[in-house]
Amino acid sequence: MAEIIDVHQGTLRADVLAELDNFHATDQRASSYYLDVDLRRFGSANAARVELGNQLARERERLRRMEITHEVRHALLRDLDEVESVGARVVGERHTRSLACFIASERRFGRAFPLPWPSRHRAFFEDRFVLWPLEQILDQSDRYAIALTDKDDARLFLFFQERIEEVTTFKDEIPGRIRFPDRSRELEYMRKHIESYHDHFDRVGEAAFRFLQREPFEHLIIGGLWETLPQFETRLHRYLRDRLVARWDIDVQHTPTPQIEERARYEERQFLERQARETWAAIQDERPTRGAIGPPEVFLALWGRRVQTLLTDQDATRPGFRCTACGLLSLDAGACVECGGEKVAVQNVHDEAVRDAIEQSSHVRFWNDPALKAVDSLAAYRRY
Ligand SMILES: [Zn+2]
Repeated sequence: MAEIIDVHQGTLRADVLAELDNFHATDQRASSYYLDVDLRRFGSANAARVELGNQLARERERLRRMEITHEVRHALLRDLDEVESVGARVVGERHTRSLACFIASERRFGRAFPLPWPSRHRAFFEDRFVLWPLEQILDQSDRYAIALTDKDDARLFLFFQERIEEVTTFKDEIPGRIRFPDRSRELEYMRKHIESYHDHFDRVGEAAFRFLQREPFEHLIIGGLWETLPQFETRLHRYLRDRLVARWDIDVQHTPTPQIEERARYEERQFLERQARETWAAIQDERPTRGAIGPPEVFLALWGRRVQTLLTDQDATRPGFRCTACGLLSLDAGACVECGGEKVAVQNVHDEAVRDAIEQSSHVRFWNDPALKAVDSLAAYRRY
């Protein structure tokens, strides 16, 4: 039988989320799974697959013990089989640290979203899909719209969470430039030529503005013919101009999408670097009230659910401990300083801190900088 779950390839757009949000399973139940397939955590694709199998075996056991009708149990177990086969397939794919699956096999509805952020394993069986863990992950990144235009072509893209999608593309008819022997006819012709590509710019700006209303994006990149780009820029709606982060000199018609994606990724890196630097400055300026520096201070801020932004190094690893009673992370064994509870060893406290932060709707920012390394690659800006 054909697989029910469709693995989403494009960016995760507002209309896709709305479809999930509107889904109602009435008399049946729907399954929402968040699968941890993070190679950084498990080390290899095989290890991740084994762990995934173990987690889903536990869910299967839970479903067998749940007090539900035979039909509902049967449907939920079928959902689980589908999730298992998709999960095993996406392990090790690019930019995939977790996978969110929403499925109601009875209704033949299933969507899977590979995500570039880590998530703890979770499963929900309710009449609606459970979206809050997905929303916490989507909240980690900003959306970048890219509007490219020359005198007659236009392409509009969205770049978000490591994926790019061409949202729209169109071409306007612009009368070509012809030389007339007669000076006044030539001037008349030039005026029409300019008017028509200004009309084209207005259409592109209008398309970008309509897109902003549908899909609120934080940043705008414009690109195209370098000589006419300023004319395009001045014609943009103020809301769009306020979001402008970069201007590209680029061949609109012939630049392949992967190249555009590469450039968008570069702009995002630049933006995140600036943001991390500003956060680091704020952490230092407002210590000890808002700033937390180094593992013990950051762990306490996480424990109190007070982290607004967590700064850590993507590649930092350090073994540590977590209190089984209150969840406090620490670098040392021994009784928990907050509650006296017992601790279990964790492989990497940085990874644990990132997951804790995402779960309390903090922003996580990875920053590779000697200043952060000097404080064991952990710092945080507190909410209050
Ligand atoms: Zn404790």
